Amino acid sequence: MSYGIRKKFYNSKAWKTTKNTIWLKQNLLCNRCHMPVYVDGLSDYLPKGKRRTGIVHHKIYLDNFNVYDDSIALDENNLEGICKECHEKEHHQDQVTRINYDFDEDGNLIQKN
Ligand SMILES: [Zn+2]
Ligand SMILES: [Zn+2]
Repeated sequence: MSYGIRKKFYNSKAWKTTKNTIWLKQNLLCNRCHMPVYVDGLSDYLPKGKRRTGIVHHKIYLDNFNVYDDSIALDENNLEGICKECHEKEHHQDQVTRINYDFDEDGNLIQKN
């Protein structure tokens, strides 16, 4: 169920628009390691293998409640475009996260059932 709520959010037009705004602001570079990233719809012309997968990270982690709160879920101040490697480091700093969460094929953090 928790997975469904967030999946719906990540597929929403509002999220896709916000996410692309973040990436364009950052010139498609990871905010931490500054590696160029691959973003669907923005860098489709680039060979996928040449770039790291880009993920827009929520500084206040998204959960089943704040996913409905635009001031957290869609606020640019709460968002940071980072590559998959940096994203995994961020979330794996937390042992609980490592055990309870995983990434789906789009690189989104999901809760294990
Ligand atoms: Zn990075
Ligand atoms: Zn994240």
